[in-house]
Amino acid sequence: MLSDKDRIYTNLYGQNDWRLAGARARGDWNDTKAITDKGRDWIVSEMKASALRGRGGAGFPTGVKWSFMPKGDGPAPRYLVINGDESEPGTCKDREILRHEPHKLIESALIASFAMGAHASYIYVRGEFYNEARHLQIAIDEAYEAGLLGKNAAGTGWDFDFYLHRGAGAYICGEETALLESLEGKKGQPRMKPPFPAGAGLYGCPTTVNNVESIASASTILRRGAAWFSGLGRPNNAGTKLMAISGHVNTPCVFEEELGVPMKEIIEKHGGGVRGGWDNLLAVIPGGCSVPLLPKDICETVLMDYDSLRAERSGLGTGCMIVMDKSTDIIKAIARFSQFFKHESCGQCTPCREGTGWMMRVMNRMVEGRAEIEEIDMLEQVTRQVEGHTICALGDAAAWPIQGLIRHFRPVMEERIRDYKRQHGGSQQVQVP
Ligand code: NAD
Ligand code: SF4
Repeated sequence: MLSDKDRIYTNLYGQNDWRLAGARARGDWNDTKAITDKGRDWIVSEMKASALRGRGGAGFPTGVKWSFMPKGDGPAPRYLVINGDESEPGTCKDREILRHEPHKLIESALIASFAMGAHASYIYVRGEFYNEARHLQIAIDEAYEAGLLGKNAAGTGWDFDFYLHRGAGAYICGEETALLESLEGKKGQPRMKPPFPAGAGLYGCPTTVNNVESIASASTILRRGAAWFSGLGRPNNAGTKLMAISGHVNTPCVFEEELGVPMKEIIEKHGGGVRGGWDNLLAVIPGGCSVPLLPKDICETVLMDYDSLRAERSGLGTGCMIVMDKSTDIIKAIARFSQFFKHESCGQCTPCREGTGWMMRVMNRMVEGRAEIEEIDMLEQVTRQVEGHTICALGDAAAWPIQGLIRHFRPVMEERIRDYKRQHGGSQQVQVP
């Protein structure tokens, strides 16, 4: 468990002043030049050595991503784009940084941009985050006034501008290339990758897109050193991470914790335990809603990190858990996600556009039990047709929760179908949904 001295986010709950004076008192903007003076190569290699993995959900190594940017100062501008479009159901961790630690983010953006040769950074903030955007804009204005942004930002000799852009409510704009399209003023639809943004990103220029937490953690990692950060957590699952617990726990919350701590311990320590006690637990979705759920027996022992959760055929995702107790209609819960993904699909590629509709309609019938038992296999087949066959990860995200449901709760689905037949008599015609 993480000790107070190892926390990156010391104002997570807004208990202290979030503005410039308070941020400075907590160590932000403390001789930023001393870090940039160590040079671009040092910064990138230190970030690589820290083993920080992207905190948006995919876990791609941050320092490695920074190293993809072209070396030297080419003719084309480069950009750092920060993804603050946090829209994953159950996920509300970046929000706390935006409203309570905005200066940590802005200072880190300056350092990261310097390391990658970018003179401008754009942050794309979820449209619904009104107060968060307001705090961030106040912090940006304060930083300009104090000479921390603009020409010779923070005395580093680097000219750096920071722009806030607000989204307008589309979940898909959190996908990095849809976000870039949206920033460019176009319809937010994902691009084919490759090219990855470092090759052709914003306005076709070299761009790094990082999650809010990935960037905001950088200044502390560089001040305290890669060895400190990589010494926390477990190999390949280094450091601390903002996590959240929502759902059927006694104290839903956002918190910072070391990776590799048992999920059960986290739910008990931070979430105040499952409502009605641990034995009342049905299942947990470990991170957002894009990863498969895990039933209670796995939750007993699994660790909250990338590799342990992957070994259980789930994932860390955003690290924001949704806890469901035995009062949950688990089929209905997953069907609700299917409706969400159907609604949020941008419709650009056929397997996702058509598949999310199919999955949603079959799932809606499964909730009632108005289906044939063989349709469970058909539903699984549909998810396999979508998974891996789409332009962006939304297709996978729509498929995986259903796969998890079938893997762990198939008997519940079968029983629901038998129940329906008992109540309505005879076999039900299989209907095309
Ligand atoms: P991804 O694995 O395709 O990419 C992750 C990052 O690594 C991207 O920045 C990508 O450009 C980079 N990358 C991957 N392979 C690369 C390569 N070969 N060369 C260069 N760069 C490479 O995943 P993604 O689509 O960016 O993200 C999916 C995740 O997002 C899901 O796991 C989900 O948990 C998460 N998610 C989070 C939210 C949220 O609100 N935070 C919302 C939806 C989804
Ligand atoms: Fe759009 Fe879905 Fe294709 Fe992503 S997978 S590009 S959301 S249609």
